[in-house]
Amino acid sequence: MLDQLLPYLRCPFDPHRRTPLLRSDDALQCPACSARFRIRNGIPVLVPQDAILPVGIRHHAQLAARHSSPPALSDTNPRW
Ligand SMILES: [Zn+2]
Repeated sequence: MLDQLLPYLRCPFDPHRRTPLLRSDDALQCPACSARFRIRNGIPVLVPQDAILPVGIRHHAQLAARHSSPPALSDTNPRW
């Protein structure tokens, strides 16, 4: 079942909810911020407070900056 859901799951630290998670042994891992999320009884625990933080990160609030920002409107619209 998890394999069917995996394409729809996104990193909860991504402010834009665009980064898909990858399966990594007994957890899911975000390729952008490297946070890992345990899988309990076949269900991924995507609760930020329960995430396994990468080395050097002390608080999950630091991880949003590791996700790339969408282009600013001024970069996609012609300037007048
Ligand atoms: Zn992430």
